[in-house]
Amino acid sequence: MSLSDDVIKIKGVGSKTRTLLNKLGIFTKNDLLRYFPRNYDKYGDILPINNLEEGISAVIQAKPSYPKLKKMGNKSILICEVADDTGKIDINWFNQPFIKTKLRIGVPTIFRGRIIKKSGLRVIQPEILTMEEYLRKKSTLQPIYALTHGITSNSIRKFIKNVLTEITADIDFLPVEIRQNYSLETLFNAINEIHFPQSYETLLSARRRLVFDEFFLFILNIDSLKKKSVRKSNYRIMHDSLIDEFIKNLPFNLTNAQRRVWSEIENDLLNGIRLNRLVQGDVGSGKTVIAMLSCVLMAKNGYQSSLMVPTEVLARQHYTIFKETLKNYGINTVLLTGSVRGRERKEVLEKIKNHNADIIIGTHALIQEKVIYDNLALVITDEQHRFGVKQREKLSQKGDEPHTIVMSATPIPRTLAVILYGDLDISIVDELPKERLPIKNCVVGEEYRKTAYNFIFTEVKNGHQAYIICPLIEEREDSESDERSAVIEYSKDLSKIFKEKINIKYLHGKMKNDEKNAIMREFAEGNIDILVSTTVVEVGINVPNATVMMIENAENFGLSTLHQLRGRIGRGKAQSYCIFMSGTSSKISRERLNILTSSNNGFEIAEKDMKLRGPGDVFGIRQSGELDFRISDIIGDADVLKLASEIIKSISDKSKNECYHKGKLFYGMNFYEGEKAVTL
Ligand code: ADP
Ligand code: MG
Repeated sequence: MSLSDDVIKIKGVGSKTRTLLNKLGIFTKNDLLRYFPRNYDKYGDILPINNLEEGISAVIQAKPSYPKLKKMGNKSILICEVADDTGKIDINWFNQPFIKTKLRIGVPTIFRGRIIKKSGLRVIQPEILTMEEYLRKKSTLQPIYALTHGITSNSIRKFIKNVLTEITADIDFLPVEIRQNYSLETLFNAINEIHFPQSYETLLSARRRLVFDEFFLFILNIDSLKKKSVRKSNYRIMHDSLIDEFIKNLPFNLTNAQRRVWSEIENDLLNGIRLNRLVQGDVGSGKTVIAMLSCVLMAKNGYQSSLMVPTEVLARQHYTIFKETLKNYGINTVLLTGSVRGRERKEVLEKIKNHNADIIIGTHALIQEKVIYDNLALVITDEQHRFGVKQREKLSQKGDEPHTIVMSATPIPRTLAVILYGDLDISIVDELPKERLPIKNCVVGEEYRKTAYNFIFTEVKNGHQAYIICPLIEEREDSESDERSAVIEYSKDLSKIFKEKINIKYLHGKMKNDEKNAIMREFAEGNIDILVSTTVVEVGINVPNATVMMIENAENFGLSTLHQLRGRIGRGKAQSYCIFMSGTSSKISRERLNILTSSNNGFEIAEKDMKLRGPGDVFGIRQSGELDFRISDIIGDADVLKLASEIIKSISDKSKNECYHKGKLFYGMNFYEGEKAVTL
C-alpha cells in the first residue's frame, strides 16, 4: 500500500463515495489523512430549560409530550413540546416524521440541538441520546469536517480510521533529536490525535506538530527555490525613460510610502540588479500603480511585462485601468484570460509573440504552454497569497530570468514575512492615500436591520452603490452548503423590501466566468445599485462609487477576512460605511467585531483577533485570503514558524534534503508547491 493510493482503495469507499470525496478535494489516502477537522464539538452539561440561550448548542433532559406533525406539500415539521422542572420548550424536526416513533412520551430524554429564536426559543433538529451515549460523547471532542451532501463526518472518520491502520510509527520524517529537543509530537500520534483527540491538551500538541510540519516543509521548499534564484547584478540595465513625467501626470499624487517603494524598485532596475521583491500593503494602499510604473519602465526600455492575478474579474479591472492610463504613451496592454476565446484569443497570442503587446494582464492563462512571450523581463503576481510558489515559478520560466514582483495584502509583520518569503526582498506600502475618508463602521444586530436597509436605500438614492455580503452557510450534515441558493433567495427577499425600482443583482462563486464578468462590469459601470454577493468580491475589486457594505453573520468570518472585505469600499472621495450585522447577541463576538470599528490596520486587527480568541481557539473561525496554509495561522502560530525557521538554519543540507523528500512522500507530492490555486 502507498499513501498516494486512490481513495477507492480504502475499505468502504465505492465509486459513488469516491466522487463525493473528490468533490472535497480528497483524491488519495494522504489527502484524506490531512483533511483536518474544521472544528471540534464538545457536548456540554445538561442545562435547565429556563437557562437556554439563543445560538448555543445545548443538551437538555426533558419529558416529551405528544408530538404534532405539520405537513406542507412534501415537507413536514414534527413539533414536540418538552418539559423539565424549570420550564417548557418546543422542539422542531424538519422532514423527519419517523422521529415520532422514537419519542417516549413522559419519559425524561436527552436532546442535543441548536437553540434558535423564532416566536420564542426552540430547539432545532436535536439528536436524541441515551445517557450512556451522552456520557461517552461528553468526555471526548467530536471532530467536525467540512462536508458535502451525501457524506457525513462519521463516514469520514471511518475512512480515516481505515487508513490509519495502514500506517506505522516509521512514517516520521523528523530526526528524533529535533523532535525531542523541541518537544514535538510524533507524526503518527499527531495525525491520530487531530482526527481522534483524547483530550484538549493532546489535541493542541498534535496540532503544534502539524503546524510545524506545514511551516517546516514550506520553508524547505522556498529554500530550494532560493538556491535557484541567486541575486544577479549587472543584469538588463534599464534607463529611466520619462518615468517622472508619467508620475506627474497621474490623476493623484503618490503617497510617501508609494514613492519609497517605487524608488526601491526603480533603484534595483536602474542599477541592473535582478528584482525579486515582495510588495506588501494593506487593502487600498495603492499597490496597482506601483505595478504599473514598473511595467511602464519595462515597456519604455523595450521589454514585455506580465501581470498575473487570481480572478478573471480582477484581471479585467486591471486591464481597463492600464489601458486607459497608458493609451497616450504608446504602450499596448492586452488581456489574456480563460474567457478570451476563439479569434480574439488568437489575436492576443499573436500580439504577445510579435511584441505588439508590451503589458500582458491575465489569469492562470498566462502560464499556459501556448503563450509565447517576446523578451519578457518582468513578471508580477497580484494577490500573491492566492498563488502557489510553483505558479509564480512557472510564470518566471516564460522569460529569461525575468524580474519578479509579488504583491500581497496579507498583513504580516516584517520578521515573519522574511521567513515566509525567504527568497524575496521586501517593500512595504504602509500608508493609505490621504484624501480618503476613513470608513465609518458599526456592529449591529437584528433590531437594526430596518434602519440598515433604509440607510442603504438613501445611499443608493444619492447615486451610490452598495454591497451586501450574504450570510455564510454552514456545512451541516442535514443541509448541503449552498451559496448559490443563499444569494438568490436573499436578493429576492431584498427586492420585496425595496418597493421602489432598485437594481439588485447577485454574484457567487459557482457562476460561470462570463456571467460573473458581466455582473462585475455592470456594477463597475454603476448600473447595479446593490450587489448581493458571497465573499468572491473580496479580492482586489475596485468600485469607488460603492459606499456601503453590509456583512451578514459577520461573527462567522475571521476579522482579517472582514477587513479585506470592507476594503472594497472607502475607495472614492465620498464617505463610506460598513455595517457588520451580527447574528448573535453574544458579548464576546460583539467585542471581537468591535475591534474592526476601532482599527483600520490589517495587521493590528489580525493580532488583536488572535489575542481575544486566545491560543486554544484556533479552529472554527474561517479565515480566507491568508497565505494558503491548511492548519496554521501565521500570526497565531508565529512562534512555531520562527522555530521551524531556526531549526532549518541549524541543520545540514543532507538532513534538509532527507526531511524534505520523506516529508513530501508522507504529505503528498504537491504539498506546498501550489496545490491549491483558487480560480474564481
Ligand atoms: P490595493 O493596494 O488594494 O491594490 P489599489 O491599487 O487598487 O489598492 O488602489 C485603490 C484605489 O486608490 C484606486 O482607486 C487607486 O486609483 C487609488 N489610489 C492609489 N494611489 C493613490 C494615491 N496616491 N492617491 C489617491 N488615490 C490613490
Ligand atoms: Mg490590489
